[in-house]
Amino acid sequence: MKTRLFLPFILFLLLLTGTPFASAQFETPVIKEWVVKETNDNGEVEEVEYMSLDGVLVHETDPALAPQPPVVQPGAVTGMPPSDAIVLFNGKNTDGWSADDGSPSQWIVKDGALQPVEDSGVIRTVQEFGSCQLHVEWATPATVEGDGQGRGNSGVFLMGQYEIQILDSYDNTTYPDGQAGALYGRSAPLVNACRKPGEWQSYDIIFHRPVFDASGNVVKRATFTILHNGVLIQDHLELSGGTLWKSKHSVVPYEAHGDKGPITLQDHGNPVSFRNIWVRELAD
Ligand code: MG
Repeated sequence: MKTRLFLPFILFLLLLTGTPFASAQFETPVIKEWVVKETNDNGEVEEVEYMSLDGVLVHETDPALAPQPPVVQPGAVTGMPPSDAIVLFNGKNTDGWSADDGSPSQWIVKDGALQPVEDSGVIRTVQEFGSCQLHVEWATPATVEGDGQGRGNSGVFLMGQYEIQILDSYDNTTYPDGQAGALYGRSAPLVNACRKPGEWQSYDIIFHRPVFDASGNVVKRATFTILHNGVLIQDHLELSGGTLWKSKHSVVPYEAHGDKGPITLQDHGNPVSFRNIWVRELAD
């Protein structure tokens, strides 16, 4: 009698607590968050949020703790659109794009390439996409200015929020989770396949969107496989949360959103050029 009652009792308890059925369990990476009181430039003490992924601080700069990805010399740029692709930029105009608020974008087309101008803000596709294959070609300014995050910074955002960093990472050291090909603050590229400043480079991105339950919990994380100039730099990476800035060593967690969102290009104050942008929609 006792054993016959035991199993229903356990099932009842599980139903009450809601585990392990209520939401997907993700064990890696181990995410830790804490707050440090720091004095800012104005001499005020403020609370700054810190985060680590598997024991490594977000935006860690110490190479002993976050090694610089090995440098790889890429092969030729590939990537003309296949017959079933939706061409997002054809080298002629900004049709199909807008500013973030839906107003006409200020970005310009120069020599067949799309470029931000001062204070133009991001540019986004009017059409929205979920899971997709995306090809983007980009070039950082031929004349090198600035260093670290200030040199040729832009970014490609899937669903308007998951950033694959664009940066002139050719002979330019920064925190690995913020260099070219990083999922910003979440995952450094496997290798550094960056071309020289001014040279055209490509990203081929295979993205599967995250899925949320009715309570807003992520039940399926976003995944990214990315080739940079034909070289694998993210290998079916399961994104552990959002990539948007939260504080200098912290990024935002997942926040529930719809099934589709825009593809967005960042204006980070550097005249990074874009060309040959196309997308193919994928099943989730
Ligand atoms: Mg960026």
